[in-house]
Amino acid sequence: MTWPEVEAAIGDGVDAVLIPIGSTEQHGRHMPLDTDCFIARALCARAAEAAEQDGVSVLVAPTLNVTLSWYHMQFPGSMRLSTTTFLQVFREICDSLVHHGFENLVAVNGHGGNVAALTVAVNHYLETTGRRVFLVQWWDLAADVLADVEGPMIHAEEAETSLALALGQRVIVDEAARDAYDRGTAVREAGLPWTSLGKYGMRHAGPGVVVPMDMLGDITPSGVVGDATLARRETGERIISALVPRIVQVCREMSEKEE
Ligand SMILES: [Zn+2]
Repeated sequence: MTWPEVEAAIGDGVDAVLIPIGSTEQHGRHMPLDTDCFIARALCARAAEAAEQDGVSVLVAPTLNVTLSWYHMQFPGSMRLSTTTFLQVFREICDSLVHHGFENLVAVNGHGGNVAALTVAVNHYLETTGRRVFLVQWWDLAADVLADVEGPMIHAEEAETSLALALGQRVIVDEAARDAYDRGTAVREAGLPWTSLGKYGMRHAGPGVVVPMDMLGDITPSGVVGDATLARRETGERIISALVPRIVQVCREMSEKEE
């Protein structure tokens, strides 16, 4: 958009601004480094289009492309911000949007490695500015659909590859691998500190212990953690069908707060 177009949109009333948050990091041998950026941006674009049909005005901010990927740095091309820099960048992006009068900000995160920091970031933003930023993450927002996905959800596996396929990312299907399928076991076999009670997957049920990420080059030769060979475009399409109207719903409800 040009600045006069942004000015006009503000004049007409913007219900919410989506902030896509990706990462630049290895995604196995079968997907490009920008996969998380691609997914976050594509979901935001689709949600903004669907919102327009619904009479909800949603803008999409530029994608935050480089984030918390320190544990991918053994793989060529991965890039990282330190956690403290990332928190500061996120805050200054929100501050910039607030400066122009955008009241309702929704971060749309495509990278599991950002979850802990973004959860801190949105809480800290409210603590220090009195403003709420909501955080949307596709694995949470489509949790019901993802219950059908068989394997673990960690990195570049069945669910993420399915979503990438359905959104039109470049996927080299023949290179899809199954690696470190049981991440806890892979960590133990690599001789790294390990606990049988560790929460090694995003869907850990029952009693568990939070463990930090391990350098992925130590536990997976391809970079995949899970099973990318199970990926199907149809699975991705079902995830998208659940996600898009829910992102629109978040934007609509957020903008109705004072009515
Ligand atoms: Zn990813």
